[in-house]
Amino acid sequence: MANHQLLVLAGDGIGPEVTGAALQVLDRVAEIGGWVVEIERADIGGTAIDTYGDPFPEKTQRAIDKASAVLLGAVGGPKWDQAPKRPEAGLLAMRQYMGLWANLRPYHVFKGLEHLSPLRKAQVDGIIFRELTGGLYFGEPRGRRFLPGDLEVIDTLQYRRSEMWRIIKLAFEYARDHHLTLTSVDKANVLESSRVWREVTDELSKQFPDVPVVHRYVDASAMDLVLNPDRYQVIVTENLFGDILSDLAGGLVGSLGLLGSSSVAGTPGTRGLFEPVHGSAPDIAGKGIANPTGAMLSLAYLVGWSWSESEAQQLIESAVAESLAEGPHTPDLGGNASTEEFTQAVIQRLEHIW
Ligand code: ATP
Ligand code: MG
Repeated sequence: MANHQLLVLAGDGIGPEVTGAALQVLDRVAEIGGWVVEIERADIGGTAIDTYGDPFPEKTQRAIDKASAVLLGAVGGPKWDQAPKRPEAGLLAMRQYMGLWANLRPYHVFKGLEHLSPLRKAQVDGIIFRELTGGLYFGEPRGRRFLPGDLEVIDTLQYRRSEMWRIIKLAFEYARDHHLTLTSVDKANVLESSRVWREVTDELSKQFPDVPVVHRYVDASAMDLVLNPDRYQVIVTENLFGDILSDLAGGLVGSLGLLGSSSVAGTPGTRGLFEPVHGSAPDIAGKGIANPTGAMLSLAYLVGWSWSESEAQQLIESAVAESLAEGPHTPDLGGNASTEEFTQAVIQRLEHIW
């Protein structure tokens, strides 16, 4: 009997509501699969600041050490806007602590929800591989320098070739395994880092002769993703470009509540961090109406990636997709179902498909 250790970091705002819904799904899937899942909980973000004065406390680090996967809700909220330590800093620290360098964000317009996409197109279906450890987020030097009569601010876009290599290779492998086209997004007409990114992509391309590769500038692809989303299947890009394009892709599918994500260290079967793409949504927190789809899909990616339970991953993804196609829908999708009602619908689908 499979034995899995899950760490749940419910976090702030709607985090506890959507992870709670995903855990109800996990309960049923574990029963079906005959697994024993040991669930531990710890604090991250705002709630961790309230309890420990630290958005990524020592106790949470120890809990991560013991887990074989981490499911996260959301962090942040207006309560901590003026706090000396930001809840989001906890998330960055945790990604670094776990050594996670690839952020995978699938996006697609679900059957039955085509009307929600601003594009009214059903062929919005892709996955973004965002580099997670380099670029403007971490490069040195950074900071402020006071000049006579002025202030200079510095951020540095810094990469190692090896950091580019591993994420681009991961995207190539995915494109190869799923017979998809790879689009590498950069700004090679301006940035030195992007020129090296392109070189690395071309070099790797020789190892993957079956994968069609397209290079695109980030500005052009932002426009093109809106005009011709069907041209994109697998996108690989650096940290900041990936952040921006994945929010853009989120906009294309109609609700932020529909997207899940994986942050991983490249090798399936190893520990990762799985979280919905949306934030803590303070405007609807505590009302019981959050859409738990992003958290449920994140759970699906978790069981597939970290626990190698690919059948269970498919079961969850199908149950969620069918429930979205048939309803009931939460308010963000134009319905009036509660989080709990939608969750029960997904659980019934699980039984049905199974
Ligand atoms: P963050 O800074 O944490 O990313 P944000 O302000 O960018 O937060 P969200 O917290 O994701 O974004 O919320 C943006 C909007 O989307 C809000 O109106 C929120 O209510 C809505 N929203 C986000 N997630 C969900 C969800 N799961 N279900 C329903 N509505 C959601
Ligand atoms: Mg946001």
